[in-house]
Amino acid sequence: MRIVKTKIKCSVCGKNDAVVYCDGCDAPLCGNCRKFDLWGYGCGHVDTKAFCLSCAEDIEVNPWGGKRPAAETAERTVQESMRVQIKEAP
Ligand SMILES: [Zn+2]
Ligand SMILES: [Zn+2]
Repeated sequence: MRIVKTKIKCSVCGKNDAVVYCDGCDAPLCGNCRKFDLWGYGCGHVDTKAFCLSCAEDIEVNPWGGKRPAAETAERTVQESMRVQIKEAP
C-alpha cells in the first residue's frame, strides 16, 4: 500500500483527494473508492493492499480476492486429465 503524498484527485470519482495508490494499476484513489484487502502469508505476516474496484475483482492482480474463473479453470484441468487416463487405459 502506497500513500499519496501530493495533492491529487481520485481517479475514480474525480471529486475527493486521493489518499492511496491502487496496488494494481497505480491509480490514485480516495477513501471512498479504495478497496482494502489483506494478504496473509504462511509466516503470519499480513500485507495491507489497496485496490481500485476493477483491480480488486481481477484475479490476475488480486489472486486472493479476485473473482475471475479460477474454479472453472481448475475443473477443466481435472476433466482433461481424467480423459487422458481413460484413453490410456488398456
Ligand atoms: Zn474517489
Ligand atoms: Zn487498479
